Amino acid sequence: MSRRRKETLHELGLTPIWHRRADSALGESVPLILASDQSVSKVNAAKAVSNDRETNDREAQISRMDWAQLKATVAGCIACPLCESRTQTVFGVGDEQANWLFIGEGPGAREDKTGEPFVGQAGKLLDNMLRSIQLRRGEGVYITNIVKCRPPNNRAPQPDEAEQCRPYLERQIVLIKPKLIVALGKVAAQNLLHSNENIGNLRGMLHSYADIPLIVTYHPAYLLRSLSDKAKAWEDLCFAKATMQSLLAQ
Ligand code: URA
Repeated sequence: MSRRRKETLHELGLTPIWHRRADSALGESVPLILASDQSVSKVNAAKAVSNDRETNDREAQISRMDWAQLKATVAGCIACPLCESRTQTVFGVGDEQANWLFIGEGPGAREDKTGEPFVGQAGKLLDNMLRSIQLRRGEGVYITNIVKCRPPNNRAPQPDEAEQCRPYLERQIVLIKPKLIVALGKVAAQNLLHSNENIGNLRGMLHSYADIPLIVTYHPAYLLRSLSDKAKAWEDLCFAKATMQSLLAQ
């Protein structure tokens, strides 16, 4: 983040900026476990190195994709077991050069049927939340999820499922270059920030994801059940709007 941007955020009282911890797993060599049978341990070590290389190759390939390649790759993805129960992948929707990027958890039943994120009841509330800060789906706004396939019975995505989808989301973010990311709910916030903190501790402050300011708010599906937290979500949206205004003024 540039010095000027930091100063502006500071002037607006929007600091401190919370930075994502470096991903310790990235680029590290695979630890080798010593086994009593050395040949077994060597085979396992070779497999681990080969898996690691495949993962790095996959990530490297995804990191070079354009929109068309990325969409086609996601549509045919079989990297985790969620592919077995999905009707279709749900890539994301909106302005591909949006200033605003909203990231949810994963598709539900309606999204799995239609291929578009946030089209059910939670989606209607998200549209209302957008409208409350003069935004509209598709106009300077992009919406996607941590995972692109519906987890069965609407359970939260498991860490390995989110991990397989991570390179897709990372590439979407690089291609969109949003000015501000809004993480919708605990799963999005924890995955993006590599944090185990609960949402109450993550909201109300400015975080940063790959040098992009990030704000956390409640998931619309949660707000449908917990009306009392709607006021807090409204505060988060006002905070996000003020942050965007300051970012645009730079
Ligand atoms: N909930 C999400 O997190 N994402 C969707 O697309 C729909 C519901």
